[in-house]
Amino acid sequence: MSPALSDRLMAEVAARRDDLVGLTRALVRIPTLNPPGRHYREICELLAGRLAASGFRTTLIRAEGAPADSAAHPRWNLIARAEGAGPGPCVHFNGHHDVVEVGHGWTVDPFGGEVIDGRLYGRGAADMKGGIAASVIAAEAFLAVCPGFRGAVEVSATADEESGGYGGVAWLAERGWFAPERVSHVIIPEPLDKDRICLGHRGVWWAEIETRGHIAHGSMPFLGDCAVRHMGAVLAEMEATLFPLLAGRRTEMPVVPDGARSATLNLNAIHGGEPEQPPDYTGLPAPCVPDRCRIVIDRRFLIEEDLAAVKAEVTALLERVKARRPSFAYEVRDLFEVHPVMARRDAPVVRATARAIERVLGRPPAYVASPGTYDQKHIDRIGRLKDCIAYGPGVLTLAHQPDEWVGVEDMVQSAQVMALVLADLLG
Ligand SMILES: [Zn+2]
Repeated sequence: MSPALSDRLMAEVAARRDDLVGLTRALVRIPTLNPPGRHYREICELLAGRLAASGFRTTLIRAEGAPADSAAHPRWNLIARAEGAGPGPCVHFNGHHDVVEVGHGWTVDPFGGEVIDGRLYGRGAADMKGGIAASVIAAEAFLAVCPGFRGAVEVSATADEESGGYGGVAWLAERGWFAPERVSHVIIPEPLDKDRICLGHRGVWWAEIETRGHIAHGSMPFLGDCAVRHMGAVLAEMEATLFPLLAGRRTEMPVVPDGARSATLNLNAIHGGEPEQPPDYTGLPAPCVPDRCRIVIDRRFLIEEDLAAVKAEVTALLERVKARRPSFAYEVRDLFEVHPVMARRDAPVVRATARAIERVLGRPPAYVASPGTYDQKHIDRIGRLKDCIAYGPGVLTLAHQPDEWVGVEDMVQSAQVMALVLADLLG
């Protein structure tokens, strides 16, 4: 790409700074809370109207029958496509329009979209309405400067990323919207920071482990078999053997922060014995030996690990406990699993984004991988599309926090990067 063209693209984006702020604010002001999935149609219509006016053909798609889809909370998605002057590849920007709950501790209106000292505040400002707005501005600036481009530009706003993406990218990918025949390169503008290219993410295995005992009167626990004590033995075995083992297992993937370059396991929840009573119950508990205890584990595994081996490691641990406790019985139930994904460093979208970052910021990018998953998993596994990264404005650690914000200058610069990527891949 000529320096003159990249200068024109960067100037075109910079001139749209107020528009970028206004669009981000308008998106933040629609409280697309998930769960339960509010105002999805409204945000898709706002973006569809805008993109149609800029020359995109827009399609609103409801993920009918997807998990959590209902008449009260339909799962709406938007795909907008602008065709070039001739055949060529398609660059697709995919952003999720849902946001997580507000939580406590805010000092500004979480749905106000206020700008203070160059930061635009609100739930979803960083994760990831600022990224969606930056990709829209980048696409519009590119169409204005390069009307004779070849190929196609797509922008999507999809549902439910925060709850697994099954009413969003997964649903669309299953119906061919991300098939390599129609989409060539994907950028997901998640808040990974304007100078970092996120190549992929670790894998996930969620499971529920239940220990079983025998109920009896609490005054005679020797007549029962306490499932909570069995679980205590399981947790002690994890402390003694599994946690140290996982901490020592490191990946070659550039996962950030550094702690996530190890395999990790979170004990997500534990419950044993009587169910918790509602807050208006004023009585005492009944004396019983608990006969069931359950934990939910959240195991994040590395690209070098194999999911079957990850599961077998936990089963082996439970068998070790069983060997020491004659009455011990357990069951493991799979809840959710995602395989790790990683784009190659020499993939076209990675190289184009790296060149654009160098041009806009004057320094080479950092390559990272995400500790948690995002919609790349569905694009990779279901869509079979490997040329996919996450790149967008905002600081990852602000995601889901009170007083979430995205920097206005960061949005402008990452929109410049995205516009240069379009010119590079569709030039
Ligand atoms: Zn996100």
